[in-house]
Amino acid sequence: MNCFNHQTTPAIGLCKACSRGLCSDCATDLDHGLACTGTHEERVNDLEMIISRNATAFKDASKNIYIVPVFYIAMGLIFGGYSLYEGRGVSHFSFVLGAGFIIFGVVLLVRNRKIFVKGQ
Ligand SMILES: [Zn+2]
Ligand SMILES: [Zn+2]
Repeated sequence: MNCFNHQTTPAIGLCKACSRGLCSDCATDLDHGLACTGTHEERVNDLEMIISRNATAFKDASKNIYIVPVFYIAMGLIFGGYSLYEGRGVSHFSFVLGAGFIIFGVVLLVRNRKIFVKGQ
């Protein structure tokens, strides 16, 4: 493939914004990719920023997948444990509430694992 602007010069790579072939005179190396000199540097930088931001957000989210479910399960144990401790039995409201929290936490945990762990 040849440069989009210089039909006789071989291209050294593609612009990340428009995917046109570029020779060394037309390409600007932005470390994370090539861009058309003078026209697409800003656009390629913007694209890169969006991509790396999303990657960071995804990484943070996958780190936090256990925190919310564990919080619900802990709440459930506190509610349920408290009602048992008080001798109120399993039909008491706080035990039912606690069981609900634990079930919700487990469902959340399974769901989060499916979303984040599978793709890695
Ligand atoms: Zn371009
Ligand atoms: Zn060129």
